[in-house]
Order: sequence, then C-alpha cells, then structure tokens
Amino acid sequence: MERNNPRAVKQRLQSLADAGVQSLPKRGRAAASVAASTRETPAAAPGDAADRIRSLAILRQQVVDCTRCTELAATRTQTVFGVGRPDARLCFFGEAPGADEDASGEPFVGRAGQLLTKIIEACTLSRDDVYILNVLKCRPPGNRTPLPDEVANCSSFFERQFATIAPEFICCLGTTAAQALLQTTEPIGKLRRRWFVYGSAEVICTYHPSYLLRNPAAKRDVWDDMKLLMEKMGLPVPQ
Ligand code: URA
Repeated sequence: MERNNPRAVKQRLQSLADAGVQSLPKRGRAAASVAASTRETPAAAPGDAADRIRSLAILRQQVVDCTRCTELAATRTQTVFGVGRPDARLCFFGEAPGADEDASGEPFVGRAGQLLTKIIEACTLSRDDVYILNVLKCRPPGNRTPLPDEVANCSSFFERQFATIAPEFICCLGTTAAQALLQTTEPIGKLRRRWFVYGSAEVICTYHPSYLLRNPAAKRDVWDDMKLLMEKMGLPVPQ
C-alpha cells in the first residue's frame, strides 16, 4: 500500500510539488467515489456509454480519413483523436499533438503530457477519470502554432467529441484551445479565473503545460485555477 511505503509517499509528494501543489488537505476522500457520487444523470446526455463509444469510434475513423489540411495530412505519422472516459465529467482540451503524440497516437504523452498527468492527479483524479483531446488531430510540422484555417478545418471534430461526451466541465489548456472553444481573441491571461459556458459544460481556462515547462513559476497560477475547478466539481479542495 503506497501510504505505508515511505519511498512511494516521497515520490507522490514530489509529483504533487512538480504539478505546483503548495498545500495538502488534512484528509481527503477517494477521488473515484467522489467522481462517481457527484455524477448525476448528465443533462441532455447523448445516450448510454455504448452509444457514446460507438459515436466516438465513427468520429475517430472520420479523423483518420481526413485530408482537409494538405500539409498536416502529408506530414503526420498518424492522427491523434483523444483518450479517456466517453462519459467523463471533465475534459482537458489542448492545442495539437507534438512529436511524441504523433508517434504514439495518444494525446499528452510527452513531457507536457507527463506534467498534465501530475496536474490531473493533484486534482485527486486520474487520466482514466477524464477525457483528453486537442483542437488539432494532426501534428503541425515543427510543433508550430496551428494556423486559423487548420483550426477551422478541425473544429467540427472537437465539437462533435464534446457533443458526444457531454462533459459537465472543460478545462482549456492554453491560448489555442481557449480561443478555439470560446470563439474569442482574448489572451489566456485574460481568460483565466473566469467561468464560461460551452453547450452544457462550464469552462475554465489555464496555462498550457508546455508553458509551465518553460515558466515553472506559473504552476502556482495553474494550481489556483485547478482549485477553482475542483471546488466547482465538488471535489475535495486542499486548503
Ligand atoms: N501539447 C498539446 O497541446 N497536446 C498534446 O497532445 C501534446 C502537447
């Protein structure tokens, strides 16, 4: 049991510190039971889990076949659709696959992804509890910022992913995701610490994990945003 293993406890504390956590609750409740107990029947649910899995599988194949962005279709190793619970309460929405994601086919598996995993775990959740997706499903060459035409070409895919999953909460990671979802040109610094609505989901925006790798001091801000999110979700919030 991790709790009785000093090395595992030390690793867990280091992981939380890496994610920007500065304080811990005196006692916590198991995330899975909280996630389950607070997930009431979702509003306007698009169907049961099997329906959602079927819809996502159809959509995934459409993404695989997509060649709307000539350059991206020609340079990608594979498309990167999304991963996680088809009925997740919470979606994390990133920008676009990088080299590691292009190679593996899964979003957020590189260095930024490992940091995102720590952030999710600091929120008392696991990657399996949430759904993770990007604005773009193909890697932009050299990891350049997605072009407006590429975002427009890909938007029907993420819109249909959200319509199928019907999350209660969406956390936008960085400017590209926030601007694409909220149809705004406001910078991420102005979008943080506010709640928005997208469909039936409440939306919060925070810095992208890649930005945190370059600016570790901003982890404090992200942790503040995650506390707002946990509070709204009814998860135990560290004081
Ligand atoms: N950055 C993103 O925005 N998405 C990924 O999947 C990986 C890095």
